[in-house]
Amino acid sequence: MKSHARVVVIGGGAVGVATLYQLTRKGWSDVVLVERKELTSGSTWHAAGLLPLFNMSYSVGQIHKHSVALYKRLQEETGQDVGLRQCSNIRLALNRERMDEYHQYAGVAETIGVTVEFLTPQQVEEIWPLCNIEGVVGAIRHPEDGYIQPADVTQAMARGARAGGAEIYRQTRVVGIEQKPSGEWLVRTDKGDIACEHVVSATGNFACQTGAMVGLDVPVIPVEHQYIVTEPHPEIVRRQREGLPEMGVLRESDGSWYLREEAGGLLLGPYEKGAPCCYLEGPRDDAEYELFPEDLERLTPHIEAAINRVPAFGEVGVKEVYNGAIPYTPDGSPIIGPAWGLRNFWLNEGHSFGITAAGGAGWQLAEWIVEGEPTIDMLGVEPRRFGDYATKAYLRQKNEEAYANVFTIHYPDEERPAGRPLRMAPCYDRMKALGAVFGQKFGWERPNWFAPKGTPQEDHWSFRRSRWFEHVGNECRNVAANVGLLDMTAFAKARVSGPGAEAFLDRLVANRLPQKIGRVNLCHALNTRGGVHSESTIMREGRDSFYLVSAGAWQRLDHDWIRKHMPDDDSVRFDNLTNALGVLVVAGPKARALLQRVSEADFSNAAFPWLTGQDIMVGLAPARALRVNFVGELGWELHHPIEYQNHIFDALMEGGADLALQPFGIRAMDSMRIEKSYRLIGTELSIEYAAYESGLERFVHPNKGDFIGRDALVHWRERGFANQFVTLEVHDVSNADALGNDPIYADGQLVGRATGGNYGFRVEKSLALAMVRPEHAEVGTELEMDILGEKHRVTVIPESPYDPDNLRLRS
Ligand SMILES: Cc1cc2nc3c(=O)[nH]c(=O)nc-3n(C[C@H](O)[C@H](O)[C@H](O)COP(=O)(O)OP(=O)(O)OC[C@H]3O[C@@H](n4cnc5c(N)ncnc54)[C@H](O)[C@@H]3O)c2cc1C
Repeated sequence: MKSHARVVVIGGGAVGVATLYQLTRKGWSDVVLVERKELTSGSTWHAAGLLPLFNMSYSVGQIHKHSVALYKRLQEETGQDVGLRQCSNIRLALNRERMDEYHQYAGVAETIGVTVEFLTPQQVEEIWPLCNIEGVVGAIRHPEDGYIQPADVTQAMARGARAGGAEIYRQTRVVGIEQKPSGEWLVRTDKGDIACEHVVSATGNFACQTGAMVGLDVPVIPVEHQYIVTEPHPEIVRRQREGLPEMGVLRESDGSWYLREEAGGLLLGPYEKGAPCCYLEGPRDDAEYELFPEDLERLTPHIEAAINRVPAFGEVGVKEVYNGAIPYTPDGSPIIGPAWGLRNFWLNEGHSFGITAAGGAGWQLAEWIVEGEPTIDMLGVEPRRFGDYATKAYLRQKNEEAYANVFTIHYPDEERPAGRPLRMAPCYDRMKALGAVFGQKFGWERPNWFAPKGTPQEDHWSFRRSRWFEHVGNECRNVAANVGLLDMTAFAKARVSGPGAEAFLDRLVANRLPQKIGRVNLCHALNTRGGVHSESTIMREGRDSFYLVSAGAWQRLDHDWIRKHMPDDDSVRFDNLTNALGVLVVAGPKARALLQRVSEADFSNAAFPWLTGQDIMVGLAPARALRVNFVGELGWELHHPIEYQNHIFDALMEGGADLALQPFGIRAMDSMRIEKSYRLIGTELSIEYAAYESGLERFVHPNKGDFIGRDALVHWRERGFANQFVTLEVHDVSNADALGNDPIYADGQLVGRATGGNYGFRVEKSLALAMVRPEHAEVGTELEMDILGEKHRVTVIPESPYDPDNLRLRS
């Protein structure tokens, strides 16, 4: 066994082996993998081997696509048969909402280059004659989908990795992991120690135990999953004998099961409610090829649904039931990328579709390790999208919920209930009494919208304009006419201070830092390739001290990014203020009158200009008022020590009673930000787009001196851009606005995608923000956009259709 390597990958399942293989493909041969038992002896060996390309997440969709392409060429490359059967996959729809989901998904698929076809029930029957099409309203089909032999594909990647110089140590258990002061890692195994630059944790059901070795609470707990294999069915045997094509994988999403042919019989995998988490303390030390006792009772409703759809399934006996552990995370997507708080420690864990994801996950992780950055937007699988709130008790509830929801309809406005409410701002009860219908971000409850008296205080999810649409419209109109109150306590907040703070931040962001004390600038941190990593509002609060505010959902990511880039000479200090400070936003033309009533500070334009901040009193409570907001009105964010929140809240509500002050929620905020063409991280801003492509010219100053990503961005500009950010008016829309990932066409050719969309109640137009090829970005250009399967005429319009000159913000 080597005593030194560049990378040690821990775990010899599909995911670890794929990572090792992809590292060698990137040219790193001094890499090793350590497996405590045999390759595939964790979850991999008993997987059903399906390769579903369907996924609503942009990140996961691209990862799955890469895997399938890789698996197709592996046999030729390695000589090892991987048992790939691209027999296609049909997903049935039993109702219109499901068809909406498929149409929305087809947009995601089209923009990332995955082929999807729509089928009529009759076409389903032609391909799947054993399927009863009663009640089927339509279906989608992935012709490139299918299944593979999980153990064989893992062995093929292992062979490919070895050919690239990697070494694999089986029957070798990692017992400890330490980082030396030099940054070098020491991976301790029961066969000796290996010093290395990078460690990759790909330990499946052991993720928590591996994380604990380095002090990480990895948010992964497995859930039990079962599938049933039947005895051969005469009809399938006949089809095989006659050389008829395999019918492919059949999924009835509304019945929550998948089915495919297996050795002349059928293999049925239901995703049932009530499947329990398992291995809460980790698998036993000697666990290997482990299965749990079957629990067919739990599967009964799905078995019945499957028999109804494919009667042949009920006509043959059960040959075998597999009940094994699948690693899960609270949202069901894997965690792929750097661990927080540790340098060169990487996570490739929490894979619930690990066979499908392994090749692509290994590819992006290898890029991240070898080249310092991934090439696709990985926010959907980013390990730092969860926080400290994701405790084991929370994971138990959320992971079981994620499993039970694999096949439910994935609405864009879906808010799942398990583990809530968890993190509540002090004003939570007050907001609730005012009609708030809450959503959740990073564990925080946030009002999404407010149900007026007499309207049930409950959400209604849809791909189309939903029951909350008109109420959100009223919230927007009240903000535009009077004044609104929004709880943004979930914002990530931090202080960066010390003698080195200014130089450090200046190198971290592309904009100039605010020079005057009290001045506020919007700043973007680029990655080394010139794409946008994060966005912060920065206020200079002292000569050597800066106050940073960024998206609540990305608190751990943004703060980890800052901390990892900080110099080690103690010249810069970082304080996370998120949980110590609340934020209430007042916005609207009467915001000044309202604040003037509750505070003695001077809110006039002369004394308190736009893009500045001041420490003030609201009633008896201290607050920092920043004259910024995300809705494009006169307004202030009031950042305050959290214990004063209700005092401030009450003062505002009392002061605003005769100013028509009304609370508003996140959905109104989103509509109003689209009217201002404000970009968001994860949609319009991404590492896949150069900061200039996202239209950030006025926030990027290549001449200010060096900053991360500057040179790459300048070179990118010299090479030419493939995209340009535009604002679009969507015509002839009656009940469905763009949601993001809607394909955009010019003369029938795909030329871009919407990144977000909404109805703009203040401008009374359906709007979208989009990335299109630069030659189609000129104002006035007419294009077409697909929304839920219908083509709409769209026009490129000038940025910020609402108040383009920011007169309201400055008023
Ligand atoms: C019944 C069932 C059906 C499934 N069907 C599908 C499917 O059709 N399609 C699909 O994509 N996915 C499917 N899955 C999920 C799939 O099995 C997993 O997502 C995948 O196997 C995860 O791979 P992995 O490499 O992350 O984990 P594993 O395969 O569990 O590998 C982790 C490895 O790490 C090793 N390890 C752990 N700790 C240490 C240590 N300290 N030192 C050394 N080694 C260590 C373990 O021994 C283990 O071999 C199914 C799962 C189940 C249970």
